[in-house]
Amino acid sequence: MPKPTAPAPHGSNFIRNVVEEDLRSGRHPGGVVTRFPPEPNGYLHIGHAKSICLNFGLARDFGGRCHMRFDDTNPEKEETEYVESILRSVRWLGFDWGEHLHYASDYFDRLYAFAELLIERGQAYVDSLSAEQIREYRGTLTEPGRDSPWRAREPAENIDLFRRMRAGEFPDGAHVLRLRLDMASPNINLRDPVIYRIRHHPHHRTGDRWCVYPLYDYTHAVSDALESITHSVCTLEFEAHRPLYDWFVENLPLPSRPHQYEFARLNLTYAVLSKRRLIELVEGGHVDGWDDPRMPTLVGVRRRGYTPEGMQLFCDRIGVSKADSWIDMSVLEQAIRDDLEPRAPRACVVLDPLRLVIENFPEGGAEACSAPCHPHRPELGRREFPLTRELWIEREDFAEVPPKGYFRLSPGAMVRLRYGYVVRCTGYERGEDGQVHTVRCEYLPDSRSGTPGADAYKVKGNIHWVSASRGLRAQVRLYDRLFAVPHPGATRDYRDDLNPDSRRVIDAWCEPGLAAALPEQRFQFERHGYFVADLRDSRPGAPVFNLTVSLKDSWSKAGG
Ligand code: ATP
Ligand code: MG
Repeated sequence: MPKPTAPAPHGSNFIRNVVEEDLRSGRHPGGVVTRFPPEPNGYLHIGHAKSICLNFGLARDFGGRCHMRFDDTNPEKEETEYVESILRSVRWLGFDWGEHLHYASDYFDRLYAFAELLIERGQAYVDSLSAEQIREYRGTLTEPGRDSPWRAREPAENIDLFRRMRAGEFPDGAHVLRLRLDMASPNINLRDPVIYRIRHHPHHRTGDRWCVYPLYDYTHAVSDALESITHSVCTLEFEAHRPLYDWFVENLPLPSRPHQYEFARLNLTYAVLSKRRLIELVEGGHVDGWDDPRMPTLVGVRRRGYTPEGMQLFCDRIGVSKADSWIDMSVLEQAIRDDLEPRAPRACVVLDPLRLVIENFPEGGAEACSAPCHPHRPELGRREFPLTRELWIEREDFAEVPPKGYFRLSPGAMVRLRYGYVVRCTGYERGEDGQVHTVRCEYLPDSRSGTPGADAYKVKGNIHWVSASRGLRAQVRLYDRLFAVPHPGATRDYRDDLNPDSRRVIDAWCEPGLAAALPEQRFQFERHGYFVADLRDSRPGAPVFNLTVSLKDSWSKAGG
């Protein structure tokens, strides 16, 4: 079945146009080389998926390659656990870096040697101001900065100090290495940026080998050039850093001259996409860990049942531009539905059970009913489930007093039991709590679905059901958006905007075939939505299902 109304996959965007033009003009005879450069200080989120699809997508579509590179220059915040989860997530999304798994820490020796070169040339100096003083001296957007009193240090003294910094003679913060550029530059990033700092902290890869670490801008430009990256794509907040990026590329003896291009980061409504906030949600116990199915992390959406193809479809649909904007969560949810619709097998599951007794059906009897696994894909085969005297139906499929236009069960009314018979409601019983607990009916033996007589019955309602005696009981987790408002944190702490009803755990009744569900197998529960057998907690024979996305957008009415 064709995918519904998506724009052409991998549609054009300004970065693809640049790449195409560069390849046409022969600027990069070796082909396009991109990279995805996360800092291993958290788990990847949906925003990263946009960057991954863009960078790896360029390499895939233009016959180039994309490097996986960890920007691991911040030893306090980085961990091997994050490295591993990031690699797993990129692979899960469907991308492969081949032999090009790199770490900025692989370049620490070369970065250090280049720094000495800059010192020798008089282009860098050791500054002994405190971090706070450096901030004061930097000036503002409207006022120029002032020169540090240490700016005039001679190369020989700078080299001596820098080597002693590296040797561990000074505590954190005692000195930094800065470029000697222009303290009056209108671009604050060019006011003698710091390129090295002292950090006595073990690094997850280099251990105690270093106590000076290069800063991001320096590391990033040098790493790109050492790897012969052709197009270094990053988010808009780095636009003002580009002159510095270019400065490094021009001033150091590097093997290639990469170019930086900026695009708008993804902002998604009803979510937060910032590693810092995601860490707070986990550590504050607001969610059950990084892979909680409500989290916008890639491990979270995976457990939620989102597919890599659905994520790629979403990234294709939102495109890549230079203007910051918000993408509505419904766009993501629709991409997931559109991906799942043609491939998720169907199943009948009753989420809010009410007992239905067919009084003229034999006690202990069972009749096999069958239904297509997918309504438009006969090749997926059929499934079978038994019809018995007692069934579960959805509580909302019965009304004591039917409202206008209600075509389901109510006293005296007829309805079709999906893939089974037409039944007529003969009565109902209420418990002491006032709630209806049993509905009674009789079935019309010549109305069975698929038999010649069936069409004689023109009933509008067609409800699903599960055998009470032969159905399978399973835990189902009904997830909703993690935040109750489109822009969490816009008017108060974002944690106050958490949706208190983002998870409801229920026991549901499923058609018996679902007992065989394997972890991560996805289904459409008819009339409800898409569900996935939980990756962690589901076992064959004892499945546990997560709601991936409902069939309809229940938030559009709410005006969110
Ligand atoms: P966060 O703001 O969540 O901490 P980050 O930008 O600090 O994210 P990095 O690990 O540095 O995270 O990001 C790796 C790559 O992913 C960078 O190239 C970055 O530009 C990109 N990226 C991060 N967030 C988004 C986003 N929301 N949309 C698009 N790209 C993103
Ligand atoms: Mg960052």
